Amino acid sequence: MQKATLFRKKPNNAVRCTACQQYCTIPEGGTGICGVRLNQEGELYLVVYGKPCSINLDPVEKKPLFHFLPGTQIFSLGTFGCNFACSFCQNWDISQATREIKVQCENAEQQKSQILSLADSFEEWEPKKIVDYCTMHKIPSIAYTYNEPAIFFEYAYDTAKLAHKNGIKNVFVSNGYESEEALKKMKGIIDAMNIDLKAFTEGFYARNCRAKLQPVLETIKLANKLGIWVEVTTLIIPGENDSDAELKSIAEFIAGVDRNIPWHVTQFHPDFKMLERPATPIATLEKAYKIGKGTGLKFVYVGNAVTERENTYCPKCGKLLVKRIGYSIDAIGMENGRCGCGEKIPGIWK
Ligand code: SF4
Repeated sequence: MQKATLFRKKPNNAVRCTACQQYCTIPEGGTGICGVRLNQEGELYLVVYGKPCSINLDPVEKKPLFHFLPGTQIFSLGTFGCNFACSFCQNWDISQATREIKVQCENAEQQKSQILSLADSFEEWEPKKIVDYCTMHKIPSIAYTYNEPAIFFEYAYDTAKLAHKNGIKNVFVSNGYESEEALKKMKGIIDAMNIDLKAFTEGFYARNCRAKLQPVLETIKLANKLGIWVEVTTLIIPGENDSDAELKSIAEFIAGVDRNIPWHVTQFHPDFKMLERPATPIATLEKAYKIGKGTGLKFVYVGNAVTERENTYCPKCGKLLVKRIGYSIDAIGMENGRCGCGEKIPGIWK
């Protein structure tokens, strides 16, 4: 267990966590919404520091990131716990683990002991071990992913800093709820983010995620302003966020921040508590693609489904630059991030 850096002391040994925009006030002996940040005697501790529950080598395209070192593998890690409670979460078994513990336990002491013993059940991966592994296996980047990385910020930050010193890049795959303080610390350390913009109504976020829309919009704007490479993902759920008006609002918002931001519109598959909804029809994904392009976004991609909409084309001359089939890359037709026509293609290419 490692002492956190992102918190402030409050009266009566309480603390206010400042890692994410939930800004939990946590009484002594308690944890915040995410369940992994514990107040012990008026200090905040990260119980999952060095204790990821999921580790994999993934294709970077799976994050999804399409304008970031295409065709490479990315060391991916996540812990248990989350600051959201999405009813359609695909990683609910890890993200909602602490909520389950809280429901089952009778008091804070029991919760604390179960959360600590869950963390202890995972193999230790200190930042140095991760960076050494990536160096030895020539893995060019690390993703903090699977659950929301803002909740294990100090672990991600220490790893990312060491990774940078060793020439390894860093990626946050995020729900966009980082606090401004966390985001500003990420500048120059985190190279890229994929941020979920799950819908464009406060009702959707309140009903399905127990969160708010506005902080996510602010994060996308600030991350872009800080020079972090940003791609945005929207999982399109039939009957929830698939109207023309909502898709247009999302696309217009992204285009208003920066037309170079790639927008991934991905296919929903029934999961967790949202089992009664059908998978997103291909026609709806196609509609979202056209709406995105219609608002002036230069790069719109369809994901989680087999379509022709995964390739990158030069926005100036239309040449095929990156051909993708699922998570594999078939051809890269540009050099040093430039199309043959001279157009600079936004992203991180080396
Ligand atoms: S990371 Fe967010 S959810 Fe977790 S304790 Fe801090 S403010 Fe609360």
